[in-house]
Amino acid sequence: MQNTVLRTEQLKAFYVLDQFGAQKVVKAVNEVDLDIRENEVYGIAGESGCGKTTLLKALYNAIEPPLRLVGGKIYYRVNGKDVDVTTLSAEEKRKLRWEFISYVPQGSMSVLNPVLKLKETYQDFIFSHVSRQSREEALNLAKSHIAELGLPRNVLDAYPHQLSGGMRQRVTIALAALLKPRIIIGDEPTTALDVVVQRGVVQLLKAIQVKLQNTIVLVTHDMGVQANIADRVGIMYAGKIVEEGTTEKIYGEAFHPYTRYLINSLPKFGDKTMRESAPGSPPSLANVPPGCPFHPRCPRVMEICQSQMPGFTTLGADHKAACWLAGEGKNGKAS
Ligand code: SF4
Repeated sequence: MQNTVLRTEQLKAFYVLDQFGAQKVVKAVNEVDLDIRENEVYGIAGESGCGKTTLLKALYNAIEPPLRLVGGKIYYRVNGKDVDVTTLSAEEKRKLRWEFISYVPQGSMSVLNPVLKLKETYQDFIFSHVSRQSREEALNLAKSHIAELGLPRNVLDAYPHQLSGGMRQRVTIALAALLKPRIIIGDEPTTALDVVVQRGVVQLLKAIQVKLQNTIVLVTHDMGVQANIADRVGIMYAGKIVEEGTTEKIYGEAFHPYTRYLINSLPKFGDKTMRESAPGSPPSLANVPPGCPFHPRCPRVMEICQSQMPGFTTLGADHKAACWLAGEGKNGKAS
C-alpha cells in the first residue's frame, strides 16, 4: 500500500456568518478523516452544496474568514515528515504552495490574467517561484513544459480569451503542474465543458499524475468522470464522508443508500429507462438533520437513524460506509 501524503483528523471547517447581528454557522466540513496516498487519484463526489469545495480549500490550507477551522488537524507528508499545516505561518504556507501542493480552481479565469499573454503569466509565475531564472530562461522552461504535456506551443502567444474553455482549462492544469507538486487539487476542472472536451482534460490530468507519480485530489459531482480517473472515491453528504472505497467497490458494490442513488442516476449505454436519483434535496448545511443526515431522504430509514450518526463499518479491504444497515459502526466515528 502506498504511503500517506495528506491526512486529516476530525477536520471541522465552518462558515461563521454575521446576519444582521445574528450568527449563522454553516457546517460545510464536519469531522472528516481522510488518508490520501502517494501516487493515486482520490475522487470526492457528492451533490452540489455538500461541502466538497470547502473541503478542498481546507486541504489546500486556504482557510480564510468567513471560513474557520473549528477543530481537527491537516497533515502533509513533506520530505518524510508529517507537517501539521494548521500551525504554519503565512510564509511557510506560501513556500508549500505550488511546489508541494497546487490548486486548479473552478473556472480558469480566476488564475489566468486576462490582460496578459499566457507566456507572460507563465514567466511571472516561474520568476516568482524559481530562483535565478531570466525572462528568457523562464520562457524556454514554459515552452518545454507545454510541449511535454502535448499542448500546442503557440498557446503561449495567446491571451486567455482567445482560447476555448477546454484549452484554457488545460493550460491552467499545466501551470499547476509546472513545479512538479506532490499533490494537485482539482475543483470541478471539467465543469461547463462538453463531454469530448472533458475527456481531453481528464486525460491530461491522468497523464500528469502518471508522469509525476504524484497525487491528485479531484472534486466533481460528475460520477462518470470519477469512474474514469479515480483510484479511490470518497462520497460526501452534508459535510461528511459517508462511504469510501476503491473505484471498483464504489461503482460495483456501493453500500450506502446515498451512493447507490448517485450510481443509479448515471446514464447507461443502451438503457432508455428513467434514471433514479435521490428523492428531495440536500439539507442546508446551516441546519443539518440530527442523526444520519441522509435520513429524511433515505428509503431504508430506521428509528435509530433519526437520532444517532452511525460510525464507519469496514465492508472489505479499502471499503467502508457509515450506515446503520452496515453494522454497529464500531470501527470509528463517521467522518
Ligand atoms: Fe439510511 Fe439509516 Fe443508513 Fe442513514 S444510517 S443511510 S438513514 S439506513
